[in-house]
Amino acid sequence: MRLYEFEGKAFFQKFKIPASEGKVITTAAEAPATAELIGFPVVLKAQVLSGGRGKAGGVKVAQNAAEALKFAQQIFALTIKGYPVEKLLIEPALDIEREIYLGVTIDRANYKLVLIGCAEGGVEIEETARTNPEKIVKIPFEIDDSIYAYHGIQMAQALGLSGNDLKSVSDINVRLFNLFKKLDAKVAEINPLVRTKDGKWIAADARLALDDDALFRHPEVAEMGIGARHEEGELTAREKVAREWGIPYVDLDGDIGMFPGGAGFGIVGNDFIHHYGGKPANFMDSGGGPTPDRIAKMLVLLDENPQVKAIFGARFGGISRCDDFAKGVVQFLREHGLTKPMVVRMTGNKWEEGLKIFESARHESPALFNRLEFHGIETPIEDIAKRAVELAKLA
Ligand code: GDP
Ligand code: MN
Repeated sequence: MRLYEFEGKAFFQKFKIPASEGKVITTAAEAPATAELIGFPVVLKAQVLSGGRGKAGGVKVAQNAAEALKFAQQIFALTIKGYPVEKLLIEPALDIEREIYLGVTIDRANYKLVLIGCAEGGVEIEETARTNPEKIVKIPFEIDDSIYAYHGIQMAQALGLSGNDLKSVSDINVRLFNLFKKLDAKVAEINPLVRTKDGKWIAADARLALDDDALFRHPEVAEMGIGARHEEGELTAREKVAREWGIPYVDLDGDIGMFPGGAGFGIVGNDFIHHYGGKPANFMDSGGGPTPDRIAKMLVLLDENPQVKAIFGARFGGISRCDDFAKGVVQFLREHGLTKPMVVRMTGNKWEEGLKIFESARHESPALFNRLEFHGIETPIEDIAKRAVELAKLA
């Protein structure tokens, strides 16, 4: 379970990691009075379960009430990485002099915990790990190890800090590690940990993810009101619609809409798409023998996703039937229309009936099929994936 920044900061305060105290609002109209109460300048921050808010325009400093209202309206209108902004955190703005990164997570490959630091914070650490891995400092721990002051000092020194900075940052290292262990966290990250112009170190952001299977050990999490709303909050707008429609669906960050015949086919399709240099925009299962109506809705999800450049479809009729599949696709073409290029392969149970449905629909209204490339058993699934990658590149 991922936590919102303001929830993460509440835990930071419990573990004596310095973090600003702010207030959360749910409408822009509340912004001026809340900001006034906190005192200008304030920072307004979108609360969504994803990073990259700064880049997306979700973090703004306001100098007065009018600005607070204007920025709050702008931020509430945003959708960041698929998450509509429904909560906004207002805090006293920090006068930032420098930003560093601190984090604790699980090193799954080596069965260890790892304290991570980087002298350059604020940017996404995954990005730095890719472009400048030598800038990232790691201190590994066995699962049962405790952290000691000297570990904190070792990290702070490796980040080039000395004097008071060394003392403050090494303390924060120790506290962050203890928080991670006490809460059974999966990730505890401060990015950025900032030094203000008056020399104080303070967490400007908080990213915490807790282990759902250990939540029973942490009644305080539920007492803080964290939990129930998260399941909803962790879904993107499209995932919410999919859930309402009964379609197991997850947004990914590629550009190929995946319209597979089932979860297994979805996984294989995902592998093939990657193999040919493409990236899926989603994972989707049809949720058991799907009705034509559900098939049509699956396509609506993909076609309406602005990220999708081409659609990859693969239906192997096993328990599900190709005639239902064809009916669903035709229903979609008639009621909604296909705006993206799509390549589909269909074979298996009742494929001849399915083919007839396609042929008669095409005969009736050929234009509906303009963007659809249709294949049967003669084309291997690899070729369909390869073609989908080509279509996405052409688009
Ligand atoms: P993220 O982009 O989702 O990781 O959001 P962050 O909370 O990390 O904010 C992004 C950036 O906004 C930070 O790296 C800071 O540069 C800036 N920022 C955040 N809080 C403040 C603040 O209180 N004052 C100022 N001036 N900048 C801030
Ligand atoms: Mn951040």
